[in-house]
Amino acid sequence: MTKHITILGGGPAALAIGYYARKKALPFTIYEAEDRIGGNSITLERGDFLFDSGAHRFHDKNPEITEEIKGLLGSDLNKVTIPSKIYDHEAFVNFPLSSMDLLKNMGVLSFAKATIEVLRSRLTGKGEAESFESFALHAYGNIIASRFLLNYSEKLWGAPCNRLSPSIAGKRLEGLDLKSFIMDSLLGSRFGAKHMEGSFFYPEGGIGTISEKLAEVCTKKNIHTNSRITKVIHDYTRICGVEINGKKRVDTDVVASTLPVDFFLEIMEPKPPEDILMLSKGLRYRNVILVAFFLDRESITNVATVYFPDSDIPFTRVYEPKNRNSRMSPPGKTSLVVEIPCQREDGIWGMEDDMLVRLVQARLVDDIRWIREDEITGTSVSRLDHAYPILEIGFEEKLRGINAFLGGFNNLKLSGRNGKFVYSWIHNMMAFGKDIVEGYDSLSVG
Ligand SMILES: Cc1cc2nc3c(=O)[nH]c(=O)nc-3n(C[C@H](O)[C@H](O)[C@H](O)COP(=O)(O)OP(=O)(O)OC[C@H]3O[C@@H](n4cnc5c(N)ncnc54)[C@H](O)[C@@H]3O)c2cc1C
Repeated sequence: MTKHITILGGGPAALAIGYYARKKALPFTIYEAEDRIGGNSITLERGDFLFDSGAHRFHDKNPEITEEIKGLLGSDLNKVTIPSKIYDHEAFVNFPLSSMDLLKNMGVLSFAKATIEVLRSRLTGKGEAESFESFALHAYGNIIASRFLLNYSEKLWGAPCNRLSPSIAGKRLEGLDLKSFIMDSLLGSRFGAKHMEGSFFYPEGGIGTISEKLAEVCTKKNIHTNSRITKVIHDYTRICGVEINGKKRVDTDVVASTLPVDFFLEIMEPKPPEDILMLSKGLRYRNVILVAFFLDRESITNVATVYFPDSDIPFTRVYEPKNRNSRMSPPGKTSLVVEIPCQREDGIWGMEDDMLVRLVQARLVDDIRWIREDEITGTSVSRLDHAYPILEIGFEEKLRGINAFLGGFNNLKLSGRNGKFVYSWIHNMMAFGKDIVEGYDSLSVG
């Protein structure tokens, strides 16, 4: 029997499901609330400038998915090799951290102390970290962790590191183990590091090209924009239908949801049991404000992304889009995009755009002194809702309860960063989509 797949949301996770479904000639419809697809993985256009919804790159982590994306984008996909840096007291330190660079920036004495601390923490500390703080202290010792990782992570995730799960390290800190640290120190190279920075793929015209190409394969007729899911109707064993924009009801065969999982539970009718709703209320998300500066200047930095661990600076990262692809700025000009993570409830989220610009501009012009005021030809402020699921200690347990409940619906699959509540990337969205479509035959409609 051919079952229609109703896909909720229109970001990369939803588009990936549609893409693989289309390749198998399976019927599907994507319902996206906004008037455009791509979710938090888009490229914005302001005059002659392009910039992404946050510093994006396509990570070459899953060879099969990389091949798929190469096939989809063809000559529109470029390999970019460019480092990222940490801005530390007016100096640039390589990110991910490398011993030689730390030695150069910290000086011999501090570096020697830090190395002894790393060794001591490894020999005396517990292998199993309970929090990101204990993970970072165990892996890097107090001096390095405090200077480069803990403040930064607190700014990014909006919670003290002793309340954050070790999983927030994601793949970023992978490979920086004791062996690589010592080998780096001895050999002066980043021995065996398999982190996510340095080399990546990036499309011509910005990261949004991936979403656009996926949408092209899905075809316009299968994508309904301006279609907000307002109810998910079920009978405790299957999802029977969804309500769109508070009006229209659509009956469903199989449903793949990429909506934030707590929102999905909230709009279920009948309401899920109280204990499940309580678990879902414990899940929180981080938003990001982007402040872009368009500049009458050839170039500012020669790196992909600059990270700012200093807790006195309100932003976490700054990137220069043209360093990923020259089409992102007109010839002879450049731009900088600043990321400020925050909660929806924080005053800064609702701050007037011109105040936000003034706040960031003061830092870039007066304190960091990267740009001059007379070089700024324009600015733009954008807000990303539900940018990151906040991985607080205990989130796995909440998720287990929620997944056990939703797993009881035999025609429902979850995907996406917030749909699955996992710290994940575009290549993961592709893999999730592929798995869902491969499991299509096992999805029941009744
Ligand atoms: C700052 C930042 C930097 C990033 N950097 C990278 C990177 O370098 N590399 C990488 O691979 N990934 C990166 N990512 C992650 C990548 O952007 C996400 O993985 C991706 O956007 C998640 O896709 P998604 O489809 O799960 O969710 P989203 O992109 O959030 O899409 C969800 C969609 O659902 C829609 N929606 C919400 N509610 C409803 C409703 N009720 N009805 C219908 N539709 C609804 C939304 O409008 C949205 O379009 C980054 C993300 C951010 C925020």
